Amino acid sequence: MLLRTISLSLFCYAAGLFAQGNPEWDEPFPPHKIIGNVYYVGTKGLSNYLITTPEGNILINSDFERNVPTIRAAIEKLGFRFRDTKILLGSHAHGDHMEGDALIKELTGARVMAMAEDVPALEKMRPGNKPHPIDRVLHDGDQVTLGGTTLVAHLTPGHTKGCTTWTLKVPDGGKTYDVVIVGSVNVNPGFILVGNKDYPQIATDYVRTFKILQGLPVDVFLGAHGNYYGLEAKYAKLKPGAPNPFIDPDGYHAYLAERQRAFQAEWDKQKAAAK
Ligand SMILES: [Zn+2]
Repeated sequence: MLLRTISLSLFCYAAGLFAQGNPEWDEPFPPHKIIGNVYYVGTKGLSNYLITTPEGNILINSDFERNVPTIRAAIEKLGFRFRDTKILLGSHAHGDHMEGDALIKELTGARVMAMAEDVPALEKMRPGNKPHPIDRVLHDGDQVTLGGTTLVAHLTPGHTKGCTTWTLKVPDGGKTYDVVIVGSVNVNPGFILVGNKDYPQIATDYVRTFKILQGLPVDVFLGAHGNYYGLEAKYAKLKPGAPNPFIDPDGYHAYLAERQRAFQAEWDKQKAAAK
């Protein structure tokens, strides 16, 4: 009986961890200016970006609903108002990036925009049975403009069908920088790359996405999770007068090369196993 209780609680603990994800996802992180009008307002493990304009602000990602108070506190700590969030965008249709969309819309009135290919998955994302708000459906290359800032939505599928990489040009100190916010190029445990009935072209989509990302002009490398671009190490180097650590085109290309090797290895493994 005792053994059963122990193994049951171990099982629940493991299942709970799986549902909750990484504890860093819930750990607050110091909000900071990245460059120009782009600010980090995410947690240690889940990235949110605030792009401020004279006509209100754009927020990228809502994370899980439970993260919304932390995002709000980060925005307010920087001196901005949560209710000035006019547009809410997302990286891809997974709960750790977009579950909180309905709550943020409810709290701020922001217009929620999502890539067409992710809409079916988002419509199934209903925390507390709330319907997922979608005010504008985006297509590859669409622009989102507010108060003089324009973001471009790049369809970079594979991780999800509508996985979105955002780019924008940001003036800072008399120069203009290309900022890239990578949606995801990770192959999660359990992803089926060979014979995937729900997503037959998943592997060729990854291949296409690596090519698209490698071709983007980039100065500042950001992404849906801080660990894509070394958030913690770069934040530690952020000092007045020092070079901006987030300007890192070499890190961007090294990251893509490493992730492409990991994808290819997994694809080769699955192809061999399918034979
Ligand atoms: Zn994901």
